Amino acid sequence: MKFSRRIAEIPPYLFVEISRKIAQKRAEGADVVTFAIGDPDIPTPANILNRLQEASQDPPNHRYPESEGLPELRQSIADWYQKRFNVELDPSKEVLPLIGAKEGIGHAAFCFIDPGDVALVPDPGYPVYSIGTLFAGGECHWMPLLEENDWLPDFNAIPDAVADKAKALWLNYPNNPTGAIAGGEFFEEVVAFARKHDVPVLHDAPYTEVSYDGYKPMSFLEIPGAKEVGVEFHSLSKSYNMTGWRIGMAVGNPDMINALMVIKSNLDSGIPQAIQYAAIEALEGPQDAIEEHNDIYQSRRDKVIKTLTKIGLKVSVPKASLYVWAKLPDGWKSGPFSSLLIEEKDIVVTPGAGYGKYGEGYIRLSLTIDDKQLDKGLARLESWKIPDPS
Ligand SMILES: *Cc1c(COP(=O)(O)O)cnc(C)c1O
Repeated sequence: MKFSRRIAEIPPYLFVEISRKIAQKRAEGADVVTFAIGDPDIPTPANILNRLQEASQDPPNHRYPESEGLPELRQSIADWYQKRFNVELDPSKEVLPLIGAKEGIGHAAFCFIDPGDVALVPDPGYPVYSIGTLFAGGECHWMPLLEENDWLPDFNAIPDAVADKAKALWLNYPNNPTGAIAGGEFFEEVVAFARKHDVPVLHDAPYTEVSYDGYKPMSFLEIPGAKEVGVEFHSLSKSYNMTGWRIGMAVGNPDMINALMVIKSNLDSGIPQAIQYAAIEALEGPQDAIEEHNDIYQSRRDKVIKTLTKIGLKVSVPKASLYVWAKLPDGWKSGPFSSLLIEEKDIVVTPGAGYGKYGEGYIRLSLTIDDKQLDKGLARLESWKIPDPS
């Protein structure tokens, strides 16, 4: 059987070796502690689940939803952006509910990329930006995210010829996997760059509500002129522990939103309506859960950082996101290091190289692990002496 080139061209899955080791360990009866998965362990808040249950009983919600989402949900998203970021959005033209941000991110590539086109993509980065580009027949121009630049791309390092022909600029702050944040000055630079080179901006922002030490991440759309050049992807997944319900949104530039709607309406039939009502409850109901969850993540963050520092890893303290990004001792590569952690300590972390070549030399630990498992995992690490790299 012959498959398309896009199937053949998907880069090899870097976690194969690690997945195999986890399975082997578990088969041997080991109590494997995993810091690898970015998926909130705490359940969806009760008020949201109650609304979902109620809405699921209502027969109109058993039928096909509209691709563009319920008008009430689009209004509710616009109101939330107004309340949270002081960003004004027209719910009829500048808001599009998604079956999770990932769906919109993947499909967005088809709005901007023709075969041979170039997208500017961060490295390390969430893999869907580059895979979407690849599926649309495009190529990635990688923007290294380096510690010395606070994990922000250096636009001056992009040759003018590349910037001028680029058809999309992907960004993600608060950042997965580095935990880095971006402020107004950076986003102003983004808008200026987008204007100068006429390149649409696609900012992925699912972690604006997951933050620590009193820090409040901003929306890219708060910057004057941002809506003329870009859209923002957001999600209820990380804000309200709703990863399993699959609901997110794209907001911003009406022409870009319309293009995404054209692609989506030809491929999917929208979000199950009961879930849309649950999302309305999430956005409009009590918001206390967000702070409660952030307190839990923050205390986990502090414990993880303390242990990692103790065993000799260099960690930047994240002010947002669900991740701790740790630098390995010189000479260590992330794959072999992660394998060794499973072999010796029954602990799973994500090798940084899985997020791109500039992620090499780092590992990512997720804070979405319950406290008992987390304490157990950290206790195993406490007294570990990292061997010299072979
Ligand atoms: C989790 C995550 C998403 C996906 O969000 P969904 O709404 O669950 O699809 C998108 N981007 C980044 C960077 C993420 O970490």
